[in-house]
Amino acid sequence: MSKLRIDVDLDKIRYNTRFLVDRLKPHGITVAGVTKAVCGHPEIANAMLEGGATGLADARISNVMRMRNAGISCSISLIRTPMLSQVAQVVDNCDVSFNTEMRIIASLAMNALGKNVTHNIILMVEMGDMREGILPEHLESTVSQILRMEGVSLKGIGANFACLGHVAPSAEAMALLSSLAIDTERAFGPALETVSGGGSASLPWALGKGATGKINNLRLGEAILLGTDPVSRHAIGGLYTDAFTLWAEVIETKAKSNPNPVQMNYPIPSMQCVTLDGPSNTRSILAIGLQDTDAAGLVFPAGVTFVGATSDHIIVETTDCPARAGGEMKLRTKYSALSRSMAAPDVAKVFRGASALAEIIAANNDRPYSK
Ligand SMILES: *Cc1c(COP(=O)(O)O)cnc(C)c1O
Repeated sequence: MSKLRIDVDLDKIRYNTRFLVDRLKPHGITVAGVTKAVCGHPEIANAMLEGGATGLADARISNVMRMRNAGISCSISLIRTPMLSQVAQVVDNCDVSFNTEMRIIASLAMNALGKNVTHNIILMVEMGDMREGILPEHLESTVSQILRMEGVSLKGIGANFACLGHVAPSAEAMALLSSLAIDTERAFGPALETVSGGGSASLPWALGKGATGKINNLRLGEAILLGTDPVSRHAIGGLYTDAFTLWAEVIETKAKSNPNPVQMNYPIPSMQCVTLDGPSNTRSILAIGLQDTDAAGLVFPAGVTFVGATSDHIIVETTDCPARAGGEMKLRTKYSALSRSMAAPDVAKVFRGASALAEIIAANNDRPYSK
């Protein structure tokens, strides 16, 4: 077996989820575990549920179906606006989808009506991240259109922060989201079940001293999986930051000098790279490349410096103890490297920690998910 693998510690993922669920509870906030960075891996999704997440959320219908096929029957939200071409699968597999386009909502409604079910909608409001969302001034008219439709039910509103932009949500933005929820309830009567206030970037706000208002849900991925804050990139106190470990095999180690300066064809601006035009130390090649991970999202062991990467190789320079061919190197992953490696077929996923999922899968073997 190849040594190229990610070790996943399910106990640490369960612990991180429980830690966040317990701290958000006094603020009246529940947690949806976001599984998109791990491609909806059922073992990891299940660890989030065991840690107290009240539901799961993913950006891709393929990941949702992977969880359904493994027997996971909890509420799953599609948090990327559905593709018009996938509304049937969304209605079949997701309890809720996040939406911003009337044309797609109308199509979800038609599909749900045809199946004699109701599909739940969360309307995403643009609050400054400039990714998805209807403008706050269009919220009232959009809500009134949805309320007149059969086949869909408005479950709540939500907003997204710090995904496209890199700015944590301000208390003002959160207060505005709360007041939009209050205005909507005042205008239309029925209470909004969910007011979803963003992802891991909203944790400093949610756990801070200020009132959390109407916001009663966060969708957490990075904080649970990596224990880090997506804006500052710092570790969040109390959480494990090492639930995932990427291992790659060394396939060459040699002292190489560079008679000619090399122009790198894949510079990674955010990384500190060794210069290639001086006399060099020992250089190693790892059997992992850009097809398997995001080199800019890797953290190397002490004494190891990144040199460059191609589709199938990562080249590092070592100062203290060179790794021999056949040995392996332990790498830490940031979010971008984790999500690409979890999606890469050549990276094996190895789980440790107790899991009850095997029993769920066995119990559901003959019963595909149905709502
Ligand atoms: C990815 C995503 C999240 C989770 O973000 P994290 O920073 O990983 O917690 C939440 N909501 C939406 C809409 C997302 O796309």
